[in-house]
Amino acid sequence: MVQELRVALERSKQWLITTHKGPDGDAVGSVIAWAALAQQLDKPFQILFPDEPASYLLPFLKAYKWSVFDAAQTYEADLLFCLDYNAPGRVGEQMSEFISIFPAQKVMLDHHPGPASFCDFEVSRPKLCSTTQVIYEVLEEMGWLKYVNLPMAHGIYLGLMTDTGSFRFPSVDAKTHQIAAHLLSLGLEHHQIHEAVYDVNTVSRLQLRGYAIAEKLQLFQDQGIGIIALSRAELDRFSYVKGDTEGLVNVILSISGIEIGIFLMETTDGVKFSFRSKGGRFVNTFAQKYFGGGGHQYAAGGFWPTDLQAARDRLSDYLNELSIS
Ligand code: 5GP
Ligand code: MN
Repeated sequence: MVQELRVALERSKQWLITTHKGPDGDAVGSVIAWAALAQQLDKPFQILFPDEPASYLLPFLKAYKWSVFDAAQTYEADLLFCLDYNAPGRVGEQMSEFISIFPAQKVMLDHHPGPASFCDFEVSRPKLCSTTQVIYEVLEEMGWLKYVNLPMAHGIYLGLMTDTGSFRFPSVDAKTHQIAAHLLSLGLEHHQIHEAVYDVNTVSRLQLRGYAIAEKLQLFQDQGIGIIALSRAELDRFSYVKGDTEGLVNVILSISGIEIGIFLMETTDGVKFSFRSKGGRFVNTFAQKYFGGGGHQYAAGGFWPTDLQAARDRLSDYLNELSIS
């Protein structure tokens, strides 16, 4: 498969590089890594996001031209790359139709379990910690490690770091560290990437987090479950901007004795769910069954098209399925 992909890459004329809605560090990192490959192979390419990445990710994209999907525009490519997602639905309603019917060969590079079959080349490796690790390993198998240059290293490291909680999750393997070592040997200043992602708080973001933890945290200690739900009004009160609540769900998980963290955030068209687990209970099946979502066993998400109260009630209705039996 990988060797056939290499031939297809060599023969191709024009690339369209896409990733999932609400792009995170791994999504943006994968896009950067793949764009850096396109540049070195002299392939004209376009980067297309379903929606704008959070502001802390924008500096990483400075050297690249990118745009947000516009249904009124036409796009041309003979290879379409689906990075860090494995079903057309993950790019949002509008763009998913476009992805489904786009007349190019499609290439999936991803690490989420249970890929939908919509790609001509499917590289799906759910055991790996990040899509940027998938990309590195695929390049290595193609004999293309020579293309791992410093700009690409920034993207690969960004994905490794953000999808592993800074190299701490069980998904990290020896290879993850070997890759990081290779990237550092290229001259990558890893501390700059950590600072750019983790030391860019605004006061209002920290106050929102403080409020959420002090006032909104519900703990079910005997079940090892913690929940935070934030309404639109609460988010507005702290001048919420995209990215401000990122990582909040992991704060819940950091409480001693808590094994499942659930974060609900009201948006204009519904409620976004984030699920995290660090015990024996898996959250992706629950997210899929009750909140139209999915993801990994230990990190999943979902969406429910109601107001916060109705979504919270629905969570209560089914929470016993996540409880210790
Ligand atoms: P987050 O909580 O960071 O938004 O998402 C956690 C994980 O769940 C990510 O790996 C993401 O890919 C996945 N995820 C989030 N929302 C959805 C969704 O609506 N559908 C599916 N299938 N996966 C999701
Ligand atoms: Mn990822």
